[in-house]
Amino acid sequence: MGSCAAHAAASRGARALLLERFDLLHHLGSSHGESRIIRDAYAKARCLPMVRLARRLWSDAEAESGYRVLTPAPHLSFGPRDDASLVRAVENAGAEEVDLAQMWGGAIRIPDGWLTAVSEHGGGVLNANKAMAMFQALAVKMGTVVRDNSEVVSIEKGPEGGVVVKTSGGEEFRRAKCVVTVGAWASKLLKSVAGVELPIQPLHTLTVYWRIKPGREQSLTAKAGFPTFSSTGEPPVYGIPSLEIPGLIKISCDGGPPCDPTAVTGSPVTAGDSEITERVARWIEEAMPGHVEAAGGPVIRQSCMCCMTPDSDFVIDFLGGEFGEDVVVGVGFSGHGFKMAPAVGRFLAEMAIDGKSNTAAEAGVELGHYRISRFDGNPMGNAAKDY
Ligand SMILES: Cc1cc2nc3c(=O)[nH]c(=O)nc-3n(C[C@H](O)[C@H](O)[C@H](O)COP(=O)(O)OP(=O)(O)OC[C@H]3O[C@@H](n4cnc5c(N)ncnc54)[C@H](O)[C@@H]3O)c2cc1C
Repeated sequence: MGSCAAHAAASRGARALLLERFDLLHHLGSSHGESRIIRDAYAKARCLPMVRLARRLWSDAEAESGYRVLTPAPHLSFGPRDDASLVRAVENAGAEEVDLAQMWGGAIRIPDGWLTAVSEHGGGVLNANKAMAMFQALAVKMGTVVRDNSEVVSIEKGPEGGVVVKTSGGEEFRRAKCVVTVGAWASKLLKSVAGVELPIQPLHTLTVYWRIKPGREQSLTAKAGFPTFSSTGEPPVYGIPSLEIPGLIKISCDGGPPCDPTAVTGSPVTAGDSEITERVARWIEEAMPGHVEAAGGPVIRQSCMCCMTPDSDFVIDFLGGEFGEDVVVGVGFSGHGFKMAPAVGRFLAEMAIDGKSNTAAEAGVELGHYRISRFDGNPMGNAAKDY
């Protein structure tokens, strides 16, 4: 989100500075890895204008940079037929009901009576690492200064207006505006900066790759038309066609235990991970037994963090208080923000520069849904995935 916001700000002619506490493209936050799904299948119709805008901006950035980061793929949604959010997501995406036995050589089997629907348009796989590198390169090309290994420890009001940002290395930067996109570290930083308590719960999640059975490797590739997929049933699995690592397919499970980002070590395996991999392995044995090898366990495991808000909606707002509109916050992307990043970055930059986002208004994105004030008097609640 920060890389996209820096690019958007610099594209408007702002003198942008991007500060990152770790190395650029590190693996300790929420955005690393080779793949993320972009799809229209959203139960909350208000998410659709943002996805559609983001898709256009992904394409613009690809054209501007010459990078290819989005591989088109259909999206398959499935789950119990009486799941109202699945039905809404399928309707909103204009997805068509299909007989899975007739699709992709019968590679996926699901319980009788479940709803299965495919949306053919606008979906795909984003190469996350490459996408971040693309926006960082574009931001630098537009004049952004990038400093990694620069942890922001305080944001204060400047004596003559604007903000003063200090890093743990003792550096001090004076700027007119500041955009805060610190992912899982948001609650702690914003509490110390402004006393604002945001109900954002980081979860430790696991991404796992499985070996495709010999002879089936080609049939599960994006090139062969195999879809991204997600289930609203139990377990809540999702999958991405074989793409980045030939012979392997990413099939994983949403959710994970709460975690403390200050204690994150980047360790690929932590307590609770074996429970996730066993759930996914059992699903593979029932749903894709002829195509994916589950018996030996996953071949690759990667840790990641999802930053859940109680309603799974993002936080895109001015910090307010003594900072008024000088500090803009973009956090709490609740496990579904990557696809939206170019749109979110544009909103944040416009809010910082213009005090409002014309792009959001023109695209029909109602930023009122993403205000901090919706949490007023709201306890943490159960951070649930519902979008
Ligand atoms: C396993 C997994 C699968 C996912 N799948 C999808 C998907 O298929 N589709 C989708 O759309 N989304 C998906 N998501 C969600 C998506 O990846 C996230 O919503 C998105 O990456 C969040 O980006 P971010 O910029 O908010 O956080 P981050 O990428 O974590 O960025 C925050 C940055 O701020 C830096 N930082 C923190 N504190 C400071 C400080 N004090 N000073 C300076 N820098 C600081 C951090 O080091 C970090 O680099 C998935 C997430 C996970 C974990």
